[in-house]
Formats: sequence, C-alpha cells, structure tokens
Amino acid sequence: MIEVTEPMSSRAPRVGSASGDRHPRSLWVGMAGLAALLLVGIASVLAMAPAAPAGPAAPAEAFSADRAMTHISAIADEPRAMGSAQHGEARAYLLDQLGSLGWRTEVQESIGMFDFGVDGTQQIGAVANVIATRPGTASTGTVLLTAHYDTVAGSPGAGDDGIGVGVLLEAARALSTVGTSRNTVMILLTDAEEVGLLGAEAFVRERAKELGTTVVLNHEARGAGGGPMTFRMSSPNSELIEVLAGAPGVFADSSSEATFEALPSAKFYNPQQRSHGGYAATLLDSAMGCAIFSRLGKNSNFGTIELKINYVRGIFAETGRLTCTGKVIHFGRRIQTAEARIVDEAGKLYAHGSGTFMVYTE
Ligand SMILES: [Zn+2]
Repeated sequence: MIEVTEPMSSRAPRVGSASGDRHPRSLWVGMAGLAALLLVGIASVLAMAPAAPAGPAAPAEAFSADRAMTHISAIADEPRAMGSAQHGEARAYLLDQLGSLGWRTEVQESIGMFDFGVDGTQQIGAVANVIATRPGTASTGTVLLTAHYDTVAGSPGAGDDGIGVGVLLEAARALSTVGTSRNTVMILLTDAEEVGLLGAEAFVRERAKELGTTVVLNHEARGAGGGPMTFRMSSPNSELIEVLAGAPGVFADSSSEATFEALPSAKFYNPQQRSHGGYAATLLDSAMGCAIFSRLGKNSNFGTIELKINYVRGIFAETGRLTCTGKVIHFGRRIQTAEARIVDEAGKLYAHGSGTFMVYTE
C-alpha cells in the first residue's frame, strides 16, 4: 500500500527520521516497494525479449539472423503459390543452397490430399517437397526441421513462411560447419501448406515410417512482428521442454491456450453489408474448442454443446486482421467450459463468448 494522499510539506518530518510518524516511513516503504515492482517488471520484459540478432560477421558456427534474412530476400520477391513459376524458382533456390552446403537433397513428388480418411470433396494436388538430409554417425532417430515454402496467392510470404525457410537454411549452414552429429538431421520444406497441408500429408504418408523415432520442430509464422515463440507442443514433452529451457533467449507460452487469426472480407457479408454473425461464432468456437482440445489425452475428443456469443461491434472488410484467443475456464472429467474474445490489431473488442464442451473417449 502506498500512501501518497498526504502532501509532504516543509513541516513534515524528514523521510526515514526516527520520529515515529508512520506516514513518511510507510511512504518510504511504499516507494521502495514500487521501485522493486518496477524492477521486476523491467526484468520480466527483458527476460521475454528474444536474443539480440547476430550480424553478418557472426562466427560461422553461430546462427545469424542477418544471414537468414538474405534467403528471405531471395525467395520473397513475389507470391510463391503452388504451381506458379515463382514457386518453381524458389524450389530451385532451396535445392541449390542446401546442396552447396553438402546436404543430400531430393524432391519428393507426390499427390497430397487434405485427409485420405474423409469421404467427399476435398483439396488434392501435385506436390513437390524439398528434402535435405545429413546422416548421423550413430543415429537413434531423426531430428526433423520443417517449414513450408509455398505462399497464398496474394502474398510474397516473407513472414509466412519465408521466416521459417530462411531460419532453416541458416541453421543448415551453421550445422554443416560443426562436423557430424550423432543423429540424422533432416530439413523438410513442404509444398502446398496454404491450400490444406498437402505436402506435409504426402510426406507423413509416404516417408515418415523410415525416419524412426522423430523429433519434429515446425517453424511457422503468424502476424507481422514480435519475437520467436514456442507454442503447441505434442505430449509427452517434458524432455523437450528441458532442452528448450537451456536455449538462449527462449520464450514459450502456454497462457493463451489457442489463438486464431482472421482477415474479414466482403465474401462473408450478410444483406446488411457486414460480416455474418456466424463469422465471429466460428472464430470463437474454434478458439475455445482448440483450447479444450490442447488439454485432452490421446484417445479423447470433444464436441461443442452450447455457445453464448456477445456481438460488440460490426466486423467489416476494413476492420483488418482479427485475433481470437480462447481459454479454458473449467476442465472437468466430462464437461469443460471456455471463453474467448475477438480483438483487432489495436486491441479493440468485437465479440466475446463462452461455451460448454463435452469430452468423449474414442
Ligand atoms: Zn504458414
């Protein structure tokens, strides 16, 4: 408690005097407490800041963000949508870079499908995954580093997922300077992620079995700024978290249980020329549902049994990027509850909701 309501006058005893007057003493204690809180706050912010980027002159065996950036500049000139000429050029660049570092490169050409287990209409396409391997000396499994090299049709994809690709090319360079490793390292740059994870589907279906025990580190980008963050780990993950904890400048988050992003557009408008209520409902239900899902065990699944939604503001195409974060409120054995909020880039609230979910075992 900081007592600052009583102004200090010239008649007030000196702060810290032994006069026995409790106001100046508690003011002093309060100020010290405030300073300590500020220090803790500053330390927390500093602790969450990513490691400072290493420049182009960083030692060869070190990872340099500057060097990673050169790859992003090379591939992110234009959109690399699946099947486009730029997509092919990017693939040639990746093969050239990884090959020149001495990695064994190949292209996995296949047909990828969103989900072979589902009947009816779904995305399907010819994919070309770029794979580079460095065999281990006494491998007990594979460390698989992955990112996707395609983009949506309208974006050059410097962020999503040029960052992931640039980081992996630079990591491949740094790894090739430090001799051999015990375990096999594979870099997988997947195709057609944006149209439904088609490249990843083809890789898992055709190639995953040959890798043995595999640790997969997927590098994906969301938004347009901020430091790197580890999120969404599969379970069990205690050993992975221990390794992560020893890495410099690491930041992992489990507080925002599930976050979705959306770019509103006129195609979701109702006759009143604003986004249909179902648009926000879908986002809220998805974020809450995934927050629940992230806590479930292997053979469990869930269903939404009730949604309550408050529409606060209209959502228009001009509203810009929206973020929806869902959090678990109650995690019972059969029934769970969650809540979620939709905000824009300035933090303005558009809708919020709560839901009830039922868990079942498959
Ligand atoms: Zn992506």
